[in-house]
Amino acid sequence: MEDCVFCKIIDGKIPSEKVYEDDDILAFKDINPAAPIHVLVIPKKHIATLMELKSEDMNIVSKIMESIQKIAQNLGIDKNGFRLIANCGPDSGQEVMHIHFHLLAGTKMGPKLCHNSR
Ligand code: 5GP
Ligand code: ZN
Repeated sequence: MEDCVFCKIIDGKIPSEKVYEDDDILAFKDINPAAPIHVLVIPKKHIATLMELKSEDMNIVSKIMESIQKIAQNLGIDKNGFRLIANCGPDSGQEVMHIHFHLLAGTKMGPKLCHNSR
């Protein structure tokens, strides 16, 4: 996908601070962190939103979750925990149209997000 910022990161055209990579998944630090640890976990396959996941893509979701377990262990946040956020569509405020999970950690989290907290 030519205009996709995350595809450019996957291709190395935009630099990123990688924290995990395998054949299907890439994880890198968010450029504008919302927590002491803020990692974005993405599939290397370009899929714009969670609503566009096809049944044949569901194995990617499993791979993302497996990679998140590994990343949490590598970053030492597996015990204290983390928050996982996936925005989908306009009401969520999704800005980058390439599926991604925000992995937030390193601090005690506040209340869950709601309509007036953005
Ligand atoms: P969204 O609002 O789409 O769920 O989140 C997109 C996230 O991507 C934002 O938290 C934003 O800071 C991050 N982001 C956007 N462009 C870049 C970039 O070029 N590099 C990195 N590392 N993160 C980015
Ligand atoms: Zn993309």
